[in-house]
Amino acid sequence: MGRVTSTTDVRSDRRASALAASVGELETLSRFGRDDVEARAEQSVAEAEELGRADLALRARLVQADLLRRCGNVAEAGRRAQEIQRWATEHGVRHLQARTHFVLASVFQELGDLSLALEHAVRSVELLDDDALPETRIDHLARLADCLGLSGDVAARERYDHVLGLAETLGDIERQLLVLNNRAYCETVAGAFEEALLWCTRLQELTHRHGAAMPVGRLDTVGRALMELGRLDEAEAAMLPGERAGLLDASLDGDAGADFLLTLTEVRRRRGHVADAQRTLDECVRRCEAFGLTAIRVRARREQAELHASSGNFPAAYAEHKLYCVELMDLQSTERDARARALQAMYETDEARRQTRRYRELSLRDPLTGLYNRRYVDDQLPRLLGRGAGGAGTVTVALLDLDHFKRVNDTCSHEIGDRVLCQVADLLRDAVGPVDDGAFAARMGGEEFLLVLVGLDPVAATARLEALRRTLREHPWSELTGDLPVTVSIGAACAPGLTDSEPTEVLGRADAHLYLAKRQGRDRVVGDPAASVRD
Ligand code: GH3
Ligand code: MG
Ligand code: MG
Repeated sequence: MGRVTSTTDVRSDRRASALAASVGELETLSRFGRDDVEARAEQSVAEAEELGRADLALRARLVQADLLRRCGNVAEAGRRAQEIQRWATEHGVRHLQARTHFVLASVFQELGDLSLALEHAVRSVELLDDDALPETRIDHLARLADCLGLSGDVAARERYDHVLGLAETLGDIERQLLVLNNRAYCETVAGAFEEALLWCTRLQELTHRHGAAMPVGRLDTVGRALMELGRLDEAEAAMLPGERAGLLDASLDGDAGADFLLTLTEVRRRRGHVADAQRTLDECVRRCEAFGLTAIRVRARREQAELHASSGNFPAAYAEHKLYCVELMDLQSTERDARARALQAMYETDEARRQTRRYRELSLRDPLTGLYNRRYVDDQLPRLLGRGAGGAGTVTVALLDLDHFKRVNDTCSHEIGDRVLCQVADLLRDAVGPVDDGAFAARMGGEEFLLVLVGLDPVAATARLEALRRTLREHPWSELTGDLPVTVSIGAACAPGLTDSEPTEVLGRADAHLYLAKRQGRDRVVGDPAASVRD
């Protein structure tokens, strides 16, 4: 069936897909933290809200959260990403789910919880749809490689090879550089400095071939590899271009400049250039304080202690080292707190999802008998009757009404009445049998029930209902109701497979048959004329 699309719909559809493309581009740009990304993300949020596209608004908000992380506000970025994740999960928006996992992988990486980071990275890859942008796929795969690499897993190497291949195929130089740098860095973390240097060389070559300058973060990787190999002169020479103020301030991540200066301090100290080293460290500390870079500030104290020791000032070295220890412990406990908070928020997300499922399930059940309720019937019956062409076979809908039930309440008690209803419900459940074909029993209200049977031809269905009627009347009710019998009248209607049937029409026929059953004396089954069973 076609949908008539008005001109305004066409226009807003077009606007929405243009916006989606632009948000997708922002997502790929955010990997490099470009200046205008923040402003464009803000604008996209406004536009998406105007179009009523919560999904696109949240994708843009997630880009903003990731920028926040880059500026050092990791905990807040994590909180926002988790909130967005909750929405994406509830609404089944896979791409947004994948992106939140991607951002959370970096959040936990920075909070020092590599195993959680790895879990998020794995999910961010799993949830990526086939039609995701190739840049996005590279980013997610690269983050997974980073998480493996930082945890010292050798599987990272293979992953990096794969991602590098993808970036080369795409001709995406920036992503190739990114992957080369991260691979080299992970090799230094693993203590494989020769290997690291190899990748650094490829990184430098590719950078020069494209006439680009190395950002300080990458110069830091190169310097670190050379320093660890004891090639101190070369390390300093390689890092020198990074000291130019322009480059330091152009660094993509808030903390890259300070990190770079800390490595350069160490290189200079090891070379014996204590005064130069001190000057470099002072600049590093200035940046830490200006940008609130707590973690690097703490590591700078350890370096300061080393520097004091190098110039023979041991009391100062000792005092500084003590400060380092205290602040390190503070830092670790702050990170632990942030991790705990993030974990708690995640637990709540899971819990909320479980609760939602539980409430939904509860809202479809009758509280007294535990059978499905009328809401479930309204929900399921159209689906069952509409799938005729799917080969489900005949669907039989039977309405059951207890006979003279008022007498049970009046003679015994309402409570006994309730217990009778519960036992009837149990017998109905037994009559349904295995439910994988969609058959079910429900309580429509009061002492009226519904039984839906699937795949039985009208004669077989009527026979099943006859058997149920007999079981019900022969049940040992006297324990509950004394001399009072419990019987049921049943009106049935069949909807043949292979055709669509209207639920109201089928239910209406069953109801008319129930009325007949009552009129003909109760305790009987009335079905479609052709299906009557003669005994
Ligand atoms: P009929 O054979 O014509 O169906 O007679 P009936 O007495 O079963 O029909 P009627 O509709 O007059 O009365 C239904 C009774 O079912 C009235 C009410 O007291 C009882 N009933 C409805 N809901 C409940 C319930 O939840 N618990 C109990 N114990 N009784 C209920
Ligand atoms: Mg009734
Ligand atoms: Mg009744």
